[in-house]
Amino acid sequence: MDILVHEIRRETTRKWTLMEICGGQSHSIMKYGLHELLPAEISLIHGPGCPVCVTPLEIIDRAVELGRYPNVILTSFGDMMRVPGTHSDLLSVKAKGGDIRIVYSPLDALELAVKNPEKEVVFLAVGFETTAPAVALAVNQAGKKGLDNFSVLVSLFLIPPAIEALISAEDNRIDGFLAAGHVCTVMGDHQYRALSEEYKIPIVVTGFEPVDILLGILKTVSMLEQERYGTENAYGRSVRPEGNVPAQNLLHKIFVNTDRKWRGIGTIPGSGLSLDCAYEKFDTEKRFNLSHIASGESEICMAGAILTGHSVPSDCKAFGVACTPEKPMGAPMVSSEGVCSAYYRYARVTTADQ
Ligand code: SF4
Repeated sequence: MDILVHEIRRETTRKWTLMEICGGQSHSIMKYGLHELLPAEISLIHGPGCPVCVTPLEIIDRAVELGRYPNVILTSFGDMMRVPGTHSDLLSVKAKGGDIRIVYSPLDALELAVKNPEKEVVFLAVGFETTAPAVALAVNQAGKKGLDNFSVLVSLFLIPPAIEALISAEDNRIDGFLAAGHVCTVMGDHQYRALSEEYKIPIVVTGFEPVDILLGILKTVSMLEQERYGTENAYGRSVRPEGNVPAQNLLHKIFVNTDRKWRGIGTIPGSGLSLDCAYEKFDTEKRFNLSHIASGESEICMAGAILTGHSVPSDCKAFGVACTPEKPMGAPMVSSEGVCSAYYRYARVTTADQ
């Protein structure tokens, strides 16, 4: 680590603003204090790469509603249980008797559907390109088994369109990106190559350990200092340029690209996955009429500004005061990849301290 820090310091002659896309990277940076090792010229800002954080409130409210239905088993990853909806969260509904179960894989939800043919089993599918293949596998299996009591409430996001939206924004101040290594393990790096070419910006595929992140920063800074752009891979032990082709083929079979709303950010064209019409019988939003549910965002939570790098959690007046991991007001304080949670756990500065 010391060598990498030394090299970053040696390379850096100007101010650079870098964005790490993934919330897992943000947590590593905060946990290990990597930002404190960097020269003052380098600013790290945190990106929107936390799927729990960007899942629209409407989806959470629909899941909460479904969790109350007596004929439904609502399944979800554990991270979603405490995300506040407009009026409630999944954990509260479960405490009041809703059949809401934490699963570790979409295939666990599928198994529940097989074992409970009298129930509707819904999987709340929240994730990026890393999670999507497992969801696709479950839907594919459900089709092969002819299940008619399994469906997926889809909240799946694609990272490259979000990067493009950030670069294209009028107030963009990002000089280079650390792309999320696990996403590229699945999808390869060709979309990033196209983006870096089009927008003449360095993008470095980066892992999650402290040395991975420092190597990603070093490569990004080197490109910027040498006035080069392009996509480089600082996570070669996991990422091949072509990615995981069988997983991509499965994604293309089950899903189509769609415009998707990112919580706090808005709708980004082509930034989501939805089920192909051949699999729409497994689409929860088509199986249940959920359109009557009204959602309303908190006026205090400024997650959108944080997820786009315009603010940091300690700018929020609720941070660490009205909003804590025990009493979260927004998803970034709940999720294991949420940047508010990272600041709360590791930075230990609250608005009350300022
Ligand atoms: S501290 Fe809480 S209320 Fe403030 S932006 Fe983060 S999640 Fe939202």
